[in-house]
Amino acid sequence: MSDWTCRTGGCRCGRLRFRITASPIMTMACHCRGCQRMTASAFSLSLTVPDAGFAIEKGTPVAGGARELEGLQHSCCDHCKSWVFTRFPAMMGEYVNVRSTLLDEIDDIAPFMETCTAEALGWARTPAVHRYEGFPQADEFHTLMAEYAER
Ligand SMILES: [Zn+2]
Ligand SMILES: [Zn+2]
Repeated sequence: MSDWTCRTGGCRCGRLRFRITASPIMTMACHCRGCQRMTASAFSLSLTVPDAGFAIEKGTPVAGGARELEGLQHSCCDHCKSWVFTRFPAMMGEYVNVRSTLLDEIDDIAPFMETCTAEALGWARTPAVHRYEGFPQADEFHTLMAEYAER
């Protein structure tokens, strides 16, 4: 994987830009129906980075998604409505999930794990090393993080 001291990205219209300055602890694809609808595609792609390694450089994100559900805080560009990042304070308070597809360089960010495969479209395939019908348990996730960090 290439240098993670500075990776930039942004929304479709470019009014919301961000910078990542920390290595991701995980990369993933999620096949849930919510992600299918949010992306208008087969699955979402995310990388998880420490909050301290993520900064908005331009623009002001606004809340999006199904805000009343699940305690997930989805943030979007106010102009083009691209779904840019998600925080989950109850479970992952110190991390942020950034949509991998929005980085300026994306070729090296394949998903290491995929979730909610029970809801996956029959033809949807990714190169993920680990697959879960739902989500991994917390202890499994720690093992996955360690394995991902080895790579
Ligand atoms: Zn935008
Ligand atoms: Zn999902």
